[in-house]
Amino acid sequence: MNWDEFAHWGKHIADWGADYHKTLRDRPVRAQTAPGEIAAQLPTSPPDSPEDMAAVMADFEAIVMPGMTHWQHPRFFAYFAANAAPPSMLAEQLVNTVAAQCMLWQTSPAATEVEGVMVDWLRQALDLPSGYSGVIQDSASSATLSAVLTMRERATGYTSNREGLSGKGHLRIYCSQEVHSSIDRACWVAGIGQDNLVKIPTHGSRFAIDADALQSAIAADIAAGHTPAGIIAITGGTGVGASDDLGRVLAVARAHDLYTHLDAAWAGAAMICPEFHAAFWDGVAGYDSIVFNPHKWLGAQFDCSIQFLRDPQPQLNTLKIEPEYLKTSGDAVTNYSEWTIPLGRRFRALKIWFLIRTYGLDGLRTRIRNHVAWAEDLAEAIRDMEGFEITSEPILSLFSFRCHGSDDDQQRLVDALNDDGRIYLTQGAFQGRKVVRFQVGQFDCTRDDVMVARDVIAEVWEKLQ
Ligand SMILES: *Cc1c(COP(=O)(O)O)cnc(C)c1O
Repeated sequence: MNWDEFAHWGKHIADWGADYHKTLRDRPVRAQTAPGEIAAQLPTSPPDSPEDMAAVMADFEAIVMPGMTHWQHPRFFAYFAANAAPPSMLAEQLVNTVAAQCMLWQTSPAATEVEGVMVDWLRQALDLPSGYSGVIQDSASSATLSAVLTMRERATGYTSNREGLSGKGHLRIYCSQEVHSSIDRACWVAGIGQDNLVKIPTHGSRFAIDADALQSAIAADIAAGHTPAGIIAITGGTGVGASDDLGRVLAVARAHDLYTHLDAAWAGAAMICPEFHAAFWDGVAGYDSIVFNPHKWLGAQFDCSIQFLRDPQPQLNTLKIEPEYLKTSGDAVTNYSEWTIPLGRRFRALKIWFLIRTYGLDGLRTRIRNHVAWAEDLAEAIRDMEGFEITSEPILSLFSFRCHGSDDDQQRLVDALNDDGRIYLTQGAFQGRKVVRFQVGQFDCTRDDVMVARDVIAEVWEKLQ
């Protein structure tokens, strides 16, 4: 392909993209395909001779698009949103085109320097103290793994990268029962082990970790000769939005000199709105590591996860490695690949710059405030429906409900709704029962998109009776 053809197809795809987004409401949200249906339409071996780009594009529309679930659909209420605001998509097109490897300052100084400034813009937007720095990672899972590795190294006097963990006893990490599975996996991968991830029960209307039980578990582990290494707190858990009392957890950590990581992957975006701080952010200052995904609610196209660090040194001591071919002269610059596990890095900061400049923080705050208000309105409407109950009240824009019947009936309702296609949502587990989970957070959704869910749920449920 030559560059004139590239320009032609680039324009074609930009037009295609605008049409796609303008007509999204006409499509079923979740793909309506059977397993194997898409693969069966592809040739089983690669072509030896070149094909026309027009043919490739035609097949993309005919074969691939019917098998896509539309994450940017305004009636996407499943999981959490993965918003791609238009300016962030444009930034990604520029990043794709320049295609730089931004692992070191010198491999693209602008990427490193824009990243440093964007981390600081978001630090201010989230009202974290000025001492925090940070790094952009691909996902919250990677940031959490980096923090868990740092806990491991710090608790072993920075010897376990070199010596391994053998003979070092049991390192223990504490969290609530509501944490995301990425915390479990970080403990597996770090060699801590699932059995040494101590999950503490929650209490109260925000399902916060029981700080007294946390304190007792740590004391019991010390008495048993184990080594407490760190605590992972959550603001906005994935299941029902569980949020810990950050100040109380931090006080327990400080009393035992434990490293702290806060998982605010989803709810961190809402912390650009000061009115949510009293309930969810009090005590955040002081956490050693905090992760928040601009690629969820905020609008920065996937992938983009920010890890704020109170002091980057413990993580650098854990992850930095400098073979000869990566050495650069002088240490006046930041080489972000030393802060993370992967060496190669994309220029992810550009989409944050485009996003915040074109909407302003106020434009983004308005969306988040609307989503929270609409989730509350819909929860009220479902509460009033005959045969339905709210099982967890809205925490920010996330709540869950059940229809009358068994766990199987909840799944039948979810499947029937997703087969219907007008809305998309998923099931969850809460207090030992299956629930229907609902979150509002798609960038383009309107109050009508949210409230229509009530009628769709009523209609589909009626048909199942
Ligand atoms: C989405 C989510 C994660 C995982 O995020 P990735 O970026 O996909 O790794 C972790 N924790 C919480 C609370 C989440 O909502």
